[in-house]
Amino acid sequence: MTEKVFITDDNKATFVCPNCKKTKTVDISPYKNLNKMIRIKLKCSCGNSHTVLLERRKHYRKKTNFPGEYTQVNSGEKKNSGMMTVKDLSRTGLKIQLDEKSNFKIGDRLMVSFHLDDKNQSPIRKEAVITNMKDSFVGVQFCRLDEYDKILGFYLLR
Ligand SMILES: [Zn+2]
Repeated sequence: MTEKVFITDDNKATFVCPNCKKTKTVDISPYKNLNKMIRIKLKCSCGNSHTVLLERRKHYRKKTNFPGEYTQVNSGEKKNSGMMTVKDLSRTGLKIQLDEKSNFKIGDRLMVSFHLDDKNQSPIRKEAVITNMKDSFVGVQFCRLDEYDKILGFYLLR
């Protein structure tokens, strides 16, 4: 059975009870240093209990403060580009802060590039889609797997 798990910016996970659909929020930050799947047993107020598997490597967000650049890649539109700061990083996406106000909307696609603060200052360049926006903060999800995922995965496990 596939569970839908929602992870918030402060490393809390929201689970949905398969029986009554009630949600429960659990702080997963104590697990963030575990390098494996996490099994969490949840007991709902309806009496149902179920076990979920959480892949920390997939969901754990690391707080960062990297400068970077973005370019809009939607075809047929005037290209917007500018500077940004990468505020957090996970295997699946980023939270960025744009240096300038933008007219982006959810669903717009950006090419983001920045350097990690690892030993090699590894360059990362990925296409991502905007999934949420709040003031100058923009949440993006990576569009596809590519050769940078291995570098990101390694970096997030440090
Ligand atoms: Zn329930």
